Amino acid sequence: MSQAFQRIVIVGGGTAGWMAATAVATALRGRSSVEVVESEEIAIVGVGEATFPSIRNYHRLVGIDEADFLRATHGTYKLGIEFRDWRVQGEGYFHTFGDFGALTGPRALWGQHRRLADPALGALGEQCLPTVMAQQGRFVVPAADDGHEPYKYAYHFDATLYAAFLRELALKRGARRTEGRIVDVTRRADGGVQSLKLADGREVTGDLFIDCSGFGSLLLGKVLAEPFVDFSRWLPVDSAWACPCERSGSELTPYTRSTALEGGWAWRIPLQNRTGHGHVFSSRHIDADRAREQLLQQLDGKPLAEPRLLRFTTGHRERFWVHNVVALGLSSGFLEPLESTSIFLIQSGLGHLMERLTSGQPVDDASVDDYNSRAVREFSRIRDFIVLHYCLTARRDSALWRDMAALELPDTLAFKLEAWRRLGLLHLQGDEGFDEHSWLAVLTGLQHWPERTDPVLEELAPEQARQALLQRRQAIAQSVARLPSHDAFLAQVLQEPRRTT
Ligand SMILES: Cc1cc2nc3c(=O)[nH]c(=O)nc-3n(C[C@H](O)[C@H](O)[C@H](O)COP(=O)(O)OP(=O)(O)OC[C@H]3O[C@@H](n4cnc5c(N)ncnc54)[C@H](O)[C@@H]3O)c2cc1C
Repeated sequence: MSQAFQRIVIVGGGTAGWMAATAVATALRGRSSVEVVESEEIAIVGVGEATFPSIRNYHRLVGIDEADFLRATHGTYKLGIEFRDWRVQGEGYFHTFGDFGALTGPRALWGQHRRLADPALGALGEQCLPTVMAQQGRFVVPAADDGHEPYKYAYHFDATLYAAFLRELALKRGARRTEGRIVDVTRRADGGVQSLKLADGREVTGDLFIDCSGFGSLLLGKVLAEPFVDFSRWLPVDSAWACPCERSGSELTPYTRSTALEGGWAWRIPLQNRTGHGHVFSSRHIDADRAREQLLQQLDGKPLAEPRLLRFTTGHRERFWVHNVVALGLSSGFLEPLESTSIFLIQSGLGHLMERLTSGQPVDDASVDDYNSRAVREFSRIRDFIVLHYCLTARRDSALWRDMAALELPDTLAFKLEAWRRLGLLHLQGDEGFDEHSWLAVLTGLQHWPERTDPVLEELAPEQARQALLQRRQAIAQSVARLPSHDAFLAQVLQEPRRTT
């Protein structure tokens, strides 16, 4: 069966809904109508505050200027995530969006660094430019050399302001907004959705429905009853306390912080005007009151609101596109926010959807099947990467960490870990959200090294390897010393004139 879509209806006005509306209104102007139905009675989640570098591609595609976006959302720059206490208490590492030089062959820097084991060489992170920038609180937008940027970066922002910013843009570009609570749905003969019925009796008809209704998964989950694939045996966290607090007097850190606690982990996300804090935890391992107490101990400023409790189950719908309903965002699934991948997954799903909507061809079953299998793979790959952070822990001080250390891993992750442990191979499986440098940063950050040294490393004399490492480290240190602080750079960007139209 082939489908063509003239009237596109988006259910929900959170980050997913307005990202989708902006993309559709921008790319299909004059070809398809787009209408967003949202209800002020049902609040958006509004806690997605840390992102992944690919968000910049989305902004580029829909024509969002960086300064406009940062001003509108109280945004800051993000070079990666600092992990504290994940392997053992008192130890940390940094997962950067940068690179560690050559990964294979005699000049593999990580391999030579490990082989020489010389304290005079410093930590492996010192071989990575954005890690050093982050540690020193410095930032500049990278200058592209032949279209290639030496490091990637992302943002922190206020998710509620982001949805409002996108809404303004989408409406300017022709999207329509309908305020109203959906109370019922009319189905088509083939099982798809014909129209939405609102509480005041109005009806909204469409050809394609993009379900961005949040955890309620109104169309895909409730109406079409698409089964849920539960990941909680691997990712047991199921709750979070979120609490904004006053910005502390110190400089803005250009990175997110994640601190492992007794029954989960705490986030710290710096915005221009406040700091976002939260505690993601497993209710099987710690009760909510104790988790709340632990969050309050993490705050580095005065709370600006009472902590808010959110509940979720990690996993995703079996299929993401069924009949004429495609789910994006929380209505399609959620993996937990450790690596800030939810907005990335919205964007990725949206990208694959837009490819189909802009191709000029009706969408057939094979294309929908392909969309679904790719989405399943993307969720699974990211699940594996998140599980990696937990399963290599050496902590045994609480039930959560003992359980995570004894976890029976997904086969795909077990295979990857074995390739690394036995041979030092960073094996990617396709449709990965994270590249080899990310895997390397986390594996080595957790002190998980291959059992054997690759003999190819011996082809470089130890002194030559030592010089290569020292030179790279010194070059990085020198260039970082010349960079402005994150605060200073951000202040300068915020003064740029408005450009987004
Ligand atoms: C604790 C936590 C921390 C997170 N941190 C991050 C992070 O750091 N980075 C990241 O990328 N992501 C993060 N996320 C995920 C992120 O918040 C979401 O992916 C993102 O906000 C998208 O949400 P959404 O638009 O799918 O749903 P929502 O924001 O819940 O929006 C749902 C919309 O549907 C509408 N709606 C629902 N039912 C109806 C109805 N019956 N009638 C009419 N309208 C209806 C609502 O009014 C609302 O507008 C986090 C999530 C949680 C739970």
